[in-house]
Amino acid sequence: MPSVFTHAAVPLALWCASERGRISPRLLGAGVLAAMLPDADVLAFALHIPYADAFGHRGASHSLLFAALLGIFAALIAPALRASRAQAGTFVFVCALSHPLLDALTSGGLGVALWWPWSDVRLFAPWRPIRVSPFANNFFSARGMQTVVSELRWVWLPLLSCVIGWRLIQQRAPVDARNP
Ligand SMILES: [Zn+2]
Repeated sequence: MPSVFTHAAVPLALWCASERGRISPRLLGAGVLAAMLPDADVLAFALHIPYADAFGHRGASHSLLFAALLGIFAALIAPALRASRAQAGTFVFVCALSHPLLDALTSGGLGVALWWPWSDVRLFAPWRPIRVSPFANNFFSARGMQTVVSELRWVWLPLLSCVIGWRLIQQRAPVDARNP
């Protein structure tokens, strides 16, 4: 996995790229939670479920179906998230799906069970530039620091560039340019 903090990068980038006030703080919170939630499956190790099992790490919780279910749940509780059903469902679905897609770009571990329950195959992207994160107990090691640098380079920096580019594209023209 990229570290759990880096999974928050996608919801934060979407929030920064959107017009102020469009995404409520509650919806942003739900998106951050949905982007991090799939890694709650590391509990599988404590339960002695093998990594490669459908319910092992990067298994069912890293599937398209899981992201869709979180999206449906968000749509159901949309009023509490101060959002329309379509907005809440789509935002949370995209945030949840970003998790396995980022994991598929990492250099280690097993791939993600994106198509579970239709297929148990573990998938990786053809290009995997992100260094895999050590688990929490080793996070503040030299390897942990290399992971942070890798995530800054391959996740945070590209997303920041996209956000800045999108904000520039969306800038309003100066008044005299609007009324030539
Ligand atoms: Zn993960």
